[in-house]
Amino acid sequence: NENKFQEIISHAKEYGFVFPSSEIYDGLSAVYDYGPYGSELKKNIRDYWWKSMTQLNENIVGIDAAIFMHPTTWKASGHVDNFSDPMIDNRDSNKRYRVDHLIEGLADKLEDEGKNQEAEALISEMDRLLAAEDYAGLKELIATNNIVCSISGTGNWTDIRQFNLMFSTQLGSVAEDADTIYLRPETAQGIFVNFLNVQKTSRMRIPFGIAQTGKAFRNEIVARQFIFRMREFEQMEMQFFVRPGTEGEWYRYWKEARLQWHLSLGISADKYRYHDHVKLAHYAKEACDIEFEFPIGFKEVEGIHSRSDFDLTQHQLFSKKKMQYFDNDVDPATGKPYGNYIPYVVETSIGLDRMFLLILSESYEVETLTKDDGSTDNRVVMHIPAKIAPVKLAVLPLVKKDGLPEIARELMNDCKPHFRCFYEEKDAIGKRYRRQDAIGTPFCVTIDHQTKEDQTVTVRHRDSMLQERISLKDVKEMVLKNLL
Ligand code: ATP
Repeated sequence: NENKFQEIISHAKEYGFVFPSSEIYDGLSAVYDYGPYGSELKKNIRDYWWKSMTQLNENIVGIDAAIFMHPTTWKASGHVDNFSDPMIDNRDSNKRYRVDHLIEGLADKLEDEGKNQEAEALISEMDRLLAAEDYAGLKELIATNNIVCSISGTGNWTDIRQFNLMFSTQLGSVAEDADTIYLRPETAQGIFVNFLNVQKTSRMRIPFGIAQTGKAFRNEIVARQFIFRMREFEQMEMQFFVRPGTEGEWYRYWKEARLQWHLSLGISADKYRYHDHVKLAHYAKEACDIEFEFPIGFKEVEGIHSRSDFDLTQHQLFSKKKMQYFDNDVDPATGKPYGNYIPYVVETSIGLDRMFLLILSESYEVETLTKDDGSTDNRVVMHIPAKIAPVKLAVLPLVKKDGLPEIARELMNDCKPHFRCFYEEKDAIGKRYRRQDAIGTPFCVTIDHQTKEDQTVTVRHRDSMLQERISLKDVKEMVLKNLL
């Protein structure tokens, strides 16, 4: 399905969804810009997430923390010491690989050759060696398997070494004794350090959540696959603070609730699966990914992690500020209030760009249509859910005269304050419909001569291509009804 993936990438560029960053200078590896329809779609996905978290949950509030944080934040969180991936270079091909990606690639090759058992054995051996941090063993594993199904050059590999994924820069004038600070590799820490500020000012009582969307930066070693893995990307994270001992039930709650959020966009359930982590970070109690079947296979789109009190405890230790919450609910076991404790955290973390790619992958279709004379024609259509579509309504006067543009303009002015509309009077109507299909506009309305007589218009539906006649004054309501 690599072909479909390439088609989506071309389509995204051609129709102003995603451009390579600084393209006139040949682009920047794993960095992308969102165009007019892309930025609209991205914003709509972000808003849909934000609303589902903050507006629909009375016990979740939002924040917008800075990208730069005090450098000690990243010592406390463990990122300075542990946020790294093992990598290896091949001296012949001069290519650098993340060890786990390289071995997964070798396993894919074995699978392509029908050697499924060997592929499985390779992955489980990799998991074992990674857990044991046995780099010599991993290098050996790569060298032997690369002889069987070569990915890169010969067996001339460097040793494996750790590569920290954080970008660093200098605060203040470099000439002075400047401090090294980092671009945040995740938004979560901005939530943890603000935990008490938010809890107190919003008068939140446990269980409650803090949500945030924003840029994160990771110097990914192998950053291919379009916007799936970027060096600058956006996250949508929510940290849910709970009483110790209740984290298991909340973990299960959010695991289910997050999948339901995806399904609420009308995406079919069989494109999703959970991947429960067997190998856990030392502080994690439970963790899983929600995976989606992209054209490049099932891949993680979101993670749900039960993180215990690890982050707050670390920040208490490093900042020497109490990170405790006073719980005056009565513990039935003792008959006394639960009292002071550091809350446990269940986190949901989704990549906005990855969700965007999910929507593109799920929406993009090349349909073959049979015309009346029996000949066939292709239609490129983006079945983007109406709620998040970049443009909701196209207003199209059939001809540029006879007062039709005036009626169309009036409809535009009536609808524009409520949702994104698009006006066009150029070209044959069929061509105009196709252009809207290509950017995923769910409704087109055509104003024709009959409109002048009976105040009705033709509504053309994107997915079914069915046309119906409705009253001009009902257009706005019809669209609004579909955006809820
Ligand atoms: P991966 O294993 O793919 O590197 P991860 O497990 O490190 O991802 P998390 O740290 O759990 O990812 O981040 C949460 C979410 O952020 C991921 O599910 C993904 O949607 C998104 N994300 C992480 N890294 C990137 C990236 N480099 N580009 C785009 N999105 C990303």
